Parts: sequence; structure tokens; C-alpha cells
Amino acid sequence: ENYFADKNRYDNGMEFERCGRSGVLLPKVSLGFWHNFGSVDPYERSREITHYAFDHGITHFDLANNYGPVYGSAEETMGRLMDEDFRPYRDELFISSKAGYDMWPGPYGNWGSRKYLMASLDQSLKRMKIDYVDLFYSHRYDPETPLEETLQALVDIVRQGKALYIGISRWPLEAARFAAKYLRERDVPLLIYQGRLNMLDREPMEEGILDFCAEEGVGFISFSPLAQGLLTDRYLNGVPADSRMSKGKFLKEEMLTPELLAKLKRYNEIATSRDETLAEMALAWVLHQKGVTSVLVGASSTAQLEKNLKCVSAAPFDDVL
Ligand code: NDP
Repeated sequence: ENYFADKNRYDNGMEFERCGRSGVLLPKVSLGFWHNFGSVDPYERSREITHYAFDHGITHFDLANNYGPVYGSAEETMGRLMDEDFRPYRDELFISSKAGYDMWPGPYGNWGSRKYLMASLDQSLKRMKIDYVDLFYSHRYDPETPLEETLQALVDIVRQGKALYIGISRWPLEAARFAAKYLRERDVPLLIYQGRLNMLDREPMEEGILDFCAEEGVGFISFSPLAQGLLTDRYLNGVPADSRMSKGKFLKEEMLTPELLAKLKRYNEIATSRDETLAEMALAWVLHQKGVTSVLVGASSTAQLEKNLKCVSAAPFDDVL
């Protein structure tokens, strides 16, 4: 049946945060399409999750060329959603995609060359059935391609009107500094840095990426803010059959050591004492770090998303966790 977005979608509790020194406001919770939106996943469930998201003020959907599985299929799901539901709301959506990891065979379907980035974005736009993305990312740093080549390709993509803004993901600090300078000098300021930050993995903080973002006026969006589900109640009492750990290859059972489980249980007790779920507290923790614009969550059900949205109004942190 037809989708009509909730009239109250901007009064359902979402808060928006300015993305660095830019005109863009991003929802504090954004939705990622890495898992749960591929051709292996039931379309109606994916569809329901996006409706729930948009009806609750999640205006930012994050994709990449190779999300699926199979590669490309998450973008195809987005294209179908565009055709069936979201076309009337295109200007209320902030859609991102990326290129940088392996996508097609041969020397031009991976890493950071101009050849790859240009071709990949054209493919992404076709799959998503849109004329431009709001944000295009270099998905990873390529040590073998001159940074100038990757960055100039990103500048030209903006000049061609295929992306409105540029981001980088997982670039080391020195390369990120170079990128910010290069892009600023060409009047295409770096909008955002996407990195993994969560209670179990604080690398962007420790390596100075968050400070860099704050100093440079670059936004920061955290991927896997729940450590792929570890920072939820999912694994506190065993490994459920329908969980990412059981089904996927990215979250391995050997990661769940007794030490980690003990830590998760400790965090869960703290969350309970705050009258929150572990997921809610873990997301709020990320949002409370200096310079963080948004948390980029995944969800395999609307029920998960519903719980996760509570982080927007979670209590501040008195203690250092
Ligand atoms: P999360 O850390 O939010 O993990 C999401 C998973 O955790 C869900 O799929 C679900 O797994 C479980 N979960 C979520 N909420 C709950 C809840 N309330 N209770 C119990 N379990 C829950 O993020 P992702 O790892 O999915 O990454 C999010 C997005 O970040 C991606 O979609 C992508 O857009 C981006 N990303 C970017 C990367 C990059 O290199 N730039 C790398 C990785 C991700 P289950 O299936 O078990 O239900």
C-alpha cells in the first residue's frame, strides 16, 4: 500500500545537530544500510524500518556501493524505496554513499583512483534512482594513490553536481588534515568524517580525530556505535540464532570472550541504574563525546530502532565511563 509519512515526523523526539561548520543539520540518530537492506533480506522488513525511521525524524540514510549482500543490492533497495515511497520526500532526505572497498573485478573497482570513484558513483546513482547524493565519501584511505588524485575526483564530483558534500571515512589523522586543507582551498569544505567510535572502541578519540574535527569544523558520525550489537542486550545470555553473530561473517563468536562479556554485563548494570537499556546508554555515550554529530545505527527490526531512538533524550554522564 502507499506510504504517507507521519505528519508529526519532526515532533516525534528527534533532535538535529549542526554538522561541523556547515549549513547541514543531521539527526542525532542516522540509519545505516550495511546490513538488513540487501537482496538476501526481506524487502518488506527493510521497507518498514525505513518508514519507521523517517516517521521519527531520521532524515539521514547512509549507504555504500558494496552494501548488501550482494554488492550493490542495498542501493537497489534504496532505489525501489525511492520509486515506491520516498520520491515525494527526496528533499527531506540526506542520502550518502561511498566508494573505496572492493566492488567489481579488475584494477578499477577498488581503492581510491579517480577512475574508480567516478564510475562507482555513476553506478550508485543508477541503482538508487536518484540524480545526486547529498554526501559522497571516500570509504577508506588508499596509501598507493596520490591523495591529490582522490581528493580532486571528489571536488570534481561536487562540481558535476553528482554530490552536494564530501566526506572521508577511516582516513588516518595526517591524511585527514591534508584532505581538509586541500578541499578547503578548492571551496569544497570537508563536511564530515565517518569513523568507528563506541564504548568498546575509542580509537578516533585516542588518535585525535575528534579533536581534529572540532578544530577544523568538520562533523563526525560514528559507525557501529553499538559495536555491531555487542553493546545491547543481544549477547548477554548466549548467542541468539537470528543475530548478526550467528548469521554474518563480520561479528565473530570468538570476539565474545569471557572478559568482554563481563564488561558488557557491567555496562548493562550501569545502564539499568540509569533506567536505560544498554543500547540506549551506549548510543548516548557516543553522542556526548565532543564533536560528535550523529550516531549511525543499524537495525534488523523497528523494535530495535524504537529502543535506540531513546538515546536522544538520555541523561548526561556524571562519571567517566
Ligand atoms: P550498530 O553498531 O548499530 O549495530 C547494529 C546491529 O546491532 C543491528 O543490525 C542489530 O543486529 C543490533 N542491534 C541494534 N539495535 C539493537 C537493540 N536495540 N537491541 C539489540 N540489538 C540491536 O551498527 P552497524 O555495525 O550496523 O553499522 C551501522 C552503519 O554504519 C552501517 O549500516 C553503515 O552505514 C555504517 N558503517 C560504515 C563503515 C565504514 O567503513 N565507514 C563500517 C561499518 C558500518 P542483529 O542483526 O543482531 O539484530
